[in-house]
Amino acid sequence: MGAQAPKTINYMDSNNFISKSLRQEHLKKISGLRYEDEEKYELQSEIRNLLKKNNASLIAHYYTDPSIQDLALDTNGCVADSLDMAKFGAITESDTLVVCGVKFMGETAKILSPKKTVLMPTLEATCSLDLGCKVEDLQLLKDQHPDRKVIVYANTSAEVKSIADWVVTSSIALDVMDRLVSEGKKFIWAPDKHLGNYIQKETGADMIIWEGSCVVHEEFKLEGIMNLKYLHSDALILAHPECPDKVLNISDFVGSTSQILNFAKKTDNLKFIIATDAGIFHQLTLQNPNKEFFQAPTSGKGATCISCAYCPWMGMNDLFKLRDTLVNKNNEISLEENILDKAQKSVKRMIDFV
Ligand code: SF4
Repeated sequence: MGAQAPKTINYMDSNNFISKSLRQEHLKKISGLRYEDEEKYELQSEIRNLLKKNNASLIAHYYTDPSIQDLALDTNGCVADSLDMAKFGAITESDTLVVCGVKFMGETAKILSPKKTVLMPTLEATCSLDLGCKVEDLQLLKDQHPDRKVIVYANTSAEVKSIADWVVTSSIALDVMDRLVSEGKKFIWAPDKHLGNYIQKETGADMIIWEGSCVVHEEFKLEGIMNLKYLHSDALILAHPECPDKVLNISDFVGSTSQILNFAKKTDNLKFIIATDAGIFHQLTLQNPNKEFFQAPTSGKGATCISCAYCPWMGMNDLFKLRDTLVNKNNEISLEENILDKAQKSVKRMIDFV
């Protein structure tokens, strides 16, 4: 294989990406202290009216606050993984899309619907994969390997997407790569190394793999999962492909959030160990009231203070910020035309593939 991909900052060993305020918000979320019931219903009712008044649709990721997910479904919006969020934004007739998730999701919505107003409860919600893949660094690698196609994960900035040949989400990464491999192509893959390694193993692709990872999925540990499996030997292990390979190797099913939800629904098994962000438990339990789900442990060697299976950036979305965004019409996603046009080509390739 060719040259090594550049190393990115090891955010797990530094505080570069996890600020004090982010940690505090995160702790508030996992301690369940976000709102009183009455306050929650009032906020939801206020937001419902504001969505109607602004002809806006609420689009939420499975990892966001359950009260936002409920509201999105209740107002004919959408709760989905990043691929379906992008598709929904493009087909809904609403003038305004309010995207609850992380920044690259708002940007993807804007790329696919440039004429629509795209708002987010906060523009500070980002992603360790996005932060670890700067466009200048990827351009450098691309220049060194002009014979390789650049495939980037959706968890990247619009700038990174604008220099990629393909954008893929975890739902369709394997299918896209299978086809490209059969065409005899070679690749640069960025930024998630675990998903990249998984694709390489499954498809035999010739890939230079970036050194990025997700702060949440990186924390799932083989030993903890095996201990839990020992206690629940009849549970199936369902894992997201951003988990380390040791976890993927012992999993009964590997898939994106929507694929995990589909699998849990379709299979007759009644118990599952889930190795992805704990936000998915809201839909898992709503859709399968008769089944039991256990959060895969994140403790063990190398675990950190954010080892709780909740994405700190997804956790920045709350009903207060959502309400304020609709009132003030702030936190709007805007992209340079040139970037948007170029990114649109690679994102549309993904949408057309589906
Ligand atoms: S869960 Fe991981 S991949 Fe998803 S937004 Fe958070 S940091 Fe990024």
